[in-house]
Amino acid sequence: MKKKKPNLAPEPKKSASVASVNLAGLDAWSAGRIKWRNSDGVYHDRSYRCCDCRMEFIWDAWEQKEWFEEMKGDAFWSSPVRCSACLAKARSKPAKRRKRVERAPVDATKWQDWRTLETRFPDGFYYDTPYICRTCGEVKIWTALQQKYWFEEKKGRSDTSAIYCLECREKYSQKKAEARRISAESLAKKRARQAQNNT
Ligand SMILES: [Zn+2]
Ligand SMILES: [Zn+2]
Repeated sequence: MKKKKPNLAPEPKKSASVASVNLAGLDAWSAGRIKWRNSDGVYHDRSYRCCDCRMEFIWDAWEQKEWFEEMKGDAFWSSPVRCSACLAKARSKPAKRRKRVERAPVDATKWQDWRTLETRFPDGFYYDTPYICRTCGEVKIWTALQQKYWFEEKKGRSDTSAIYCLECREKYSQKKAEARRISAESLAKKRARQAQNNT
């Protein structure tokens, strides 16, 4: 089967589409989430608001099916944040090719929340899982090793997933550091002025 990159944010279509939910081959945890998202057994077109242009756009039923069933997209948080036009604009560099799915063994003794994590990783492995970054809207991979670190070393809860990509998190912390620097500078100036006034 040819794997193509999903078009996550198509332009609105006139006629609504539906696609049947097929949970074969998915782990119980993802299957449960997908069932919960689509309780009547079919994917429906979903409308979202683009974080850039603020226009509504449609995530097509068939694209959802491809994302969850073929791409094995993260069943917890994944949903598009940008329309296709804005996503194309936001892409500064060409998308990297998706790596082969890697896995890492689970060490359940390190789990905080092992009762529910057991249903999430039933075969004893973490797998590279694609997700959609909530800031840039890009498809990123939450790698098996990152998941291992998150759930075992950081004691992540069973109902957490990757939301923001590394680049967006770095940009965010740079912005915060810059804001801190500016406020520290203005505070120092203010103090200097006060010191002058007191003499
Ligand atoms: Zn847009
Ligand atoms: Zn991002």
